[in-house]
Amino acid sequence: MIVTIASGKGGTGKTTVAVSLALSLAADGHGRPLLLDCDVEEPNVALFIRPTLEERREVGLMIPQVDLEACTFCGRCAEVCQYHAIAVVGERVLVFPELCHGCGSCTLNCPTGAIHEVLHVIGTIERGWAGPPGASVATGGLDFAQGTMNVGEPMAVPIIRQLKQWVIPSPLPPAPSPVEGERERCGDRPIILDASPGTACPVVESMRGADVVLMVTEPTPFGLHDLRLAVEVARDELRLPVGVVINRDGVGDQGVDDYCATEDIPILMRIPLERRIAEGYSEGVPLVEAAPAYRQRFIGLWERLVKLQ
Ligand code: SF4
Ligand code: SF4
Repeated sequence: MIVTIASGKGGTGKTTVAVSLALSLAADGHGRPLLLDCDVEEPNVALFIRPTLEERREVGLMIPQVDLEACTFCGRCAEVCQYHAIAVVGERVLVFPELCHGCGSCTLNCPTGAIHEVLHVIGTIERGWAGPPGASVATGGLDFAQGTMNVGEPMAVPIIRQLKQWVIPSPLPPAPSPVEGERERCGDRPIILDASPGTACPVVESMRGADVVLMVTEPTPFGLHDLRLAVEVARDELRLPVGVVINRDGVGDQGVDDYCATEDIPILMRIPLERRIAEGYSEGVPLVEAAPAYRQRFIGLWERLVKLQ
């Protein structure tokens, strides 16, 4: 089962939940979990699980490169580009890599074959594993993968897409990728994606192909506002089952509870505001290590997620 952990609002504890869920499942023999950090602008799961990273690849988009000897400056490439990423000015053809989506339309429509495509690197993807002392890649622990967007690059979606294609088994819908190679079969095991906060395209890409979306929120007016937006994306647009974890339960107000009751969204777990959890977080210690009694609660959370799909 694939679960995407999301939150409309940043700082709600999404990564805390993703990490603790994966570690609890790994320790409980639920199959070897696969944990993906899809928050490619600010990946931070690795800070908590300290993985051994064994493979790294550059990823990017195929962008046009124009052979001016073969170009007639007809302007057809600029006409077909929906993203205004290529312009013909007199006898010059300008390509704006930061706007290019790598769709290939300009190449296909060039009447003289003056365009060929080159890889524009926008980030990296890495994979490895993490486990308790004494574990090895073959025993115990979990598999891990993360994407990282290069500074100054604007497009996170291709990195997330290529990360998923690299490590998640089919039947995810195929998408074009310049990453050569395999889509490995990982078997039927827990796959947990930590999405970026918000409701923009990177979040949608992280939810695409999931069986369930778990929203992590806090019981405040801000949390409620952004939870509504995230639910609109996951449940109303993508038609995915949604459950909620309320973090820092006990602060704030009843708004999130009332909203979930009205919308018939199950609240699957509550995590109270506790000093030992906050201190652990500040030191890079996962919740279930700062408070081991929570392991069983996270196992229960997974079992409720399984019933939601
Ligand atoms: S479509 Fe081809 S020939 Fe026409 S301007 Fe663009 S690159 Fe040049
Ligand atoms: S590949 Fe697509 S987005 Fe990029 S310049 Fe060509 S038409 Fe525009």
